[in-house]
Amino acid sequence: MSHQPGRPSQRIGILGGGQLGRMLGLAGIPLGFRFVFLDPAADACAAAAGELLQAEFSDAGAARDLAALVDVATFDFENVPESTARALQEVCPLYPAPNALGAGQDRLAENSLLTGLGIPVPAFCKVSTRTDLLEGLDVLGYPAVLKTRRLGYDGKGQAILRDQEDLERAWQKLGDSELILESFVPFQAECSLVAVRGLDGETRIWPLIRNVHSNGILKLSLPGVFDESLQSRAAKHMQTLLEHFDYTGVLTIEFFLLQGELLVNEFAPRVHNSGHWTIDGAACSQFENHLRAISGLPLGDTDMMAWSMMFNWIGEMPDQKKAMAVPGVHWHDYGKLPRPGRKIGHATLTAESMEELKTNAGRLAEIAGGEFPALLRDIFD
Ligand code: AMP
Repeated sequence: MSHQPGRPSQRIGILGGGQLGRMLGLAGIPLGFRFVFLDPAADACAAAAGELLQAEFSDAGAARDLAALVDVATFDFENVPESTARALQEVCPLYPAPNALGAGQDRLAENSLLTGLGIPVPAFCKVSTRTDLLEGLDVLGYPAVLKTRRLGYDGKGQAILRDQEDLERAWQKLGDSELILESFVPFQAECSLVAVRGLDGETRIWPLIRNVHSNGILKLSLPGVFDESLQSRAAKHMQTLLEHFDYTGVLTIEFFLLQGELLVNEFAPRVHNSGHWTIDGAACSQFENHLRAISGLPLGDTDMMAWSMMFNWIGEMPDQKKAMAVPGVHWHDYGKLPRPGRKIGHATLTAESMEELKTNAGRLAEIAGGEFPALLRDIFD
């Protein structure tokens, strides 16, 4: 089947069948789309929203089979090998194009690209040997963050180095991989910008989102609390990157906010965890807009329709009945088996005023327990 520009595609292929694929499917079904997912897991949770082809991401033949079934393809997982993406692209259009996928898979290439485009990142250097690491620390100083160049996410494959002892421990754990050393950023806040660009280059950007992580995993997201100047500076970096890739679809940039300046931590060529609030809190969600973009439909409005806040459920979910008794709670269960560290659902709170949002967020944080009450104080700081 071939994609006809200007006409909505009917069948969409997605490399990856996790919760992002599932939410793309759930957003696309009302638009008339049907979905085929490729994922190695027999119990991939996106299968609830379409058909599942079970295969490894390295299986280029399976990717071609997927492509033959659909009009256009995309992915919910950025560590699909670039070779698989290119094989798929021989058979059907793939958005975003593999150039953005490849650039985001290697932290060294990513930081070098951003620097080349004039977008600030933390000071960094390449580390292949122990000598590189010692020389890097001489330049950057303690504290620093040692990260694997590939396959790191949610704080996995990284260690903070505060002293010689940390250095030895981190080298034992990570020394077998190709690495990057970054200076530790004593940030005031972390934030992210989610944007969508259509096939015709039209771009829409959602409000900048404040994020709070714990152990490297996103726990809370709060959009719409930064001023116009920061929003427009972040948007300028976004525009540069979108144009560099001639990008189609949703792109996310994660930033550190340090003394009023934005430094990029990383970008993700896909819909993003910090954009989940858009399902319930924005005129058009990141999921719907990604589908609109890759299928050549007009983009939807990215305005915030309500004060919103997302709580991420990691490893376990709070009592659903109690949580849903809090006004403004929108519940999202990914249908995944609970496991420590696994993203199994989220809730978005919406409210008509910031006061109401704070009150209800306090109630939800008490119900969720654990770190949530403390993290909530951080985000409203
Ligand atoms: P990442 O997997 O790179 O997104 O990192 C996960 C989290 O680790 C980030 O959201 C930050 O909270 C923290 N982190 C990563 N890199 C740095 C850095 N250079 N300085 C300070 N914190 C960092």
